[in-house]
Amino acid sequence: MKIKTRFAPSPTGALHIGGVRTALFAYLVARKAGGVFSLRIEDTDRARFVEGATEDIIKTLKWLGLTFDGEPIYQSERLDLYKEHAKKLIDSGKAYEKDGAVWFKIDLDGKTSIVDLVRNRKIEFENSTQKDFVILKSDGYPTYHLAHVVDDHLVETNPVIRGAEWISSVPKHIQLFKAFGWQVPQYAHLPIILGTDRSKLSKRHGAKPASEFRSDGFLPEAILNFMALLGWTPPSGKEILSLSEMVQEFDLFDVNNTNAIFDITKLEWMNGEYIRKTENSNLKVKIRNYLMDISDNTLVKEGHPSEEEIEKVVPLIKDRIKTLSDIVPLTDFLWEKPEYDKEIFKKLKVKNCSETLLKIAEKLEKMEKPWNTEIFEKTFRELADSIGAKAGGVFQLIRVAISGQTVTPPLFESIEIIGEGEVLKRTKEAIEFLQAV
Ligand code: GLU
Repeated sequence: MKIKTRFAPSPTGALHIGGVRTALFAYLVARKAGGVFSLRIEDTDRARFVEGATEDIIKTLKWLGLTFDGEPIYQSERLDLYKEHAKKLIDSGKAYEKDGAVWFKIDLDGKTSIVDLVRNRKIEFENSTQKDFVILKSDGYPTYHLAHVVDDHLVETNPVIRGAEWISSVPKHIQLFKAFGWQVPQYAHLPIILGTDRSKLSKRHGAKPASEFRSDGFLPEAILNFMALLGWTPPSGKEILSLSEMVQEFDLFDVNNTNAIFDITKLEWMNGEYIRKTENSNLKVKIRNYLMDISDNTLVKEGHPSEEEIEKVVPLIKDRIKTLSDIVPLTDFLWEKPEYDKEIFKKLKVKNCSETLLKIAEKLEKMEKPWNTEIFEKTFRELADSIGAKAGGVFQLIRVAISGQTVTPPLFESIEIIGEGEVLKRTKEAIEFLQAV
């Protein structure tokens, strides 16, 4: 039988990070089997429908590289189909109308059981615990139960891959399939994702829509890799896997049926690993595109950093950033004049900052151009000795004078990018600032 999976989000908001894992696993199962992976928009809850959510879902899946086959199915465009099927059940005595809605008549005898593809776990229910339920609402829209069964039957979904929150609805679905006389598909219910404190995953745990991770500078490869490990342990034991490696290794049987824990610090770490794995030339393009498309950094819009500028800073910051957005606070000073804060100067281990800066400016003026690291280091070590200060303190003072901050990429490399004239100018501006406060 051909493997056909689908991702069936409800457009009640932007694609949430948890939904990415459901989409990913359905994608992996289909691609591994050479089957079909499709998208179905479950837009049947008019009260919870959010304008723009469908567009966000499609755009984000594309950005992640989870390409689906064919065109998406929109349930709101198939209302006649659901009505027709509800009528069939009424006609065969398996459903009835009450207050304008159509209800399914549950069979209370016996048990319903499935073998879930996640670990081949047997899940069983006493039918006596079930109740009649609505399949078609009075507004003419189907409930999830009817739409799931009709659509997944018609497109021959197998297996149905969805979140574990649907396990309790399994008896309803099995009885519906049987009432229509249809074959029941196989199911895989994916473990619930919780926060590190084991409570329901929320904003507090750093969880948010996938598109926000995008604007925060996360790479799609890192997100997919991280999400894959929420509930799945690859047989190879590898922790860093590309999408194609995941396709090769993935098997629903290896998914755990215990809750998965979303640890944002691990995602940040992993994103940093992916940044370091990316070739400089490629990373340069990613950063540039990110800054142009995503960031609302006005500087970037004015043309900084340019491609050449990014090229220069990539080797300096590559080991220090976790997300693409980290580049902005770390390198802004290279293209823009710093803002000084007297508190930052006060914390430095140099007694008289403005006097020392005057000496530094003097040395810089005399230093032979082009400046080089050795001469630069030697000059300021000697200066530190002569005023009884620590060399580290003097270098830190120069850093603050040219950047306004205490953390930057390596000092001399930064100076090379800023340029000798500008460095001297900033040093003098820092002196003026200190003399004025
Ligand atoms: N619309 C349902 C949800 O978002 C889909 C469940 C399913 O995949 O069948 O949870």
